[in-house]
Amino acid sequence: MKRIGVLGLQGAYAKHLAILQQLDVQAVDVRKGEDLEKCHGLIIPGGESTTMTKLINEIDMHDALLKFSVDRPVFGTCAGMILMATKVDDDRVETLNLLDIEVERNAYGRQIDSFIDELDVTTNGHPFSMRGIFIRAPRIKNIGDEVEVLASVNGEPVLVQQGHHMAAAFHPELTGETRIHNYFSTLKGEMSLA
Ligand code: GLN
Repeated sequence: MKRIGVLGLQGAYAKHLAILQQLDVQAVDVRKGEDLEKCHGLIIPGGESTTMTKLINEIDMHDALLKFSVDRPVFGTCAGMILMATKVDDDRVETLNLLDIEVERNAYGRQIDSFIDELDVTTNGHPFSMRGIFIRAPRIKNIGDEVEVLASVNGEPVLVQQGHHMAAAFHPELTGETRIHNYFSTLKGEMSLA
């Protein structure tokens, strides 16, 4: 059975584990570099990207994450998306450079800390609608040519994929929605585990 890890250092990881448990995969709580070895994919949850950077560096996990991502899929949501970007407007965040996107933290402003929007998503050519919960969400300001947009709000991308990696500006784990996690679980890196 496929094993998908959720980085459990900080933030909204528990809900991701709960969604994965509803799918045909084994959910793994990842707390250190070695935990990655048994995973076929990894979710980096929402939380606070500056704090997550600090914690990743404290336990010396940055290189393990980079090595993992070469041949295995990574899905970042919200703060997780910030950590996967090539460019962020805050140099306290040390990114993994996994997706050719430029992001702005907390870009939807303090007054509207969070909002819910109806999203039109397309995965594998299949369109569907779902609710997206945005919490102090980052905005994707620019994307590279290789990046595919799976959903957008007011013309701005909010769900993107590049090769075997994907990222969401919103929290797909908070609406009881399983389709996004299910789609992620089908992405393949080149790795094969017994
Ligand atoms: N504002 C957070 C950050 O910049 C992200 C918010 C979230 O993950 N819900 O890291």
